[in-house]
Amino acid sequence: NCNVAMEAKLPKENGLNGHTGIMFNDITPLLLRPGVFKDAVDIFVERYRGMGIAAVAGIEARGFIFGPAIALAIGAKFIPLRKPKKLPGEVISETYVLEYGTDCLQMHVGAIEPGERVLIVDDLVATGGTLCAAIRLLERAGADVAECACLIGLPKFKDFYKLNGKPVYVLVESR
Ligand code: 5GP
Repeated sequence: NCNVAMEAKLPKENGLNGHTGIMFNDITPLLLRPGVFKDAVDIFVERYRGMGIAAVAGIEARGFIFGPAIALAIGAKFIPLRKPKKLPGEVISETYVLEYGTDCLQMHVGAIEPGERVLIVDDLVATGGTLCAAIRLLERAGADVAECACLIGLPKFKDFYKLNGKPVYVLVESR
């Protein structure tokens, strides 16, 4: 059922989220419906089970909602890719450019073994900048990135759906 993530789409004008002037795709209503939440996770699990995925890497923060559920179901470890200064141990970092300024993702050194096959998970792909940074970070650590998976993709950026040569799988397209 590829309509599951659309259940989460809330236009800003309904006042249910704190963002003004932009369309923000809020996934939290989906989480309030266990059956829909499960359907979404199950679609990913069916796709990635048996593919030799050793690790699921989730991007802070909403990749932490879906990533661990998928990881547990397919028997993979979970690796948090965090914003700077959150991880307590030694980290490797990847900085990336945003519309206004830069941001950075960090991962614990040793989280990945060279050659391990990894799935990257986030809630939404827009420009693809965040996923590209995650791919670069994992590849620098020696990972074999299999695919990126998101609930929502913004079609105006569809040209970017193949990021750094890696496919991006989305459940639904939004505006
Ligand atoms: P990109 O780097 O592809 O331009 O932006 C994707 C990142 O920004 C993701 O980490 C995603 O969580 C966040 N993001 C950007 N716009 C939205 C949005 O409308 N809804 C949600 N849930 N996340 C967004």
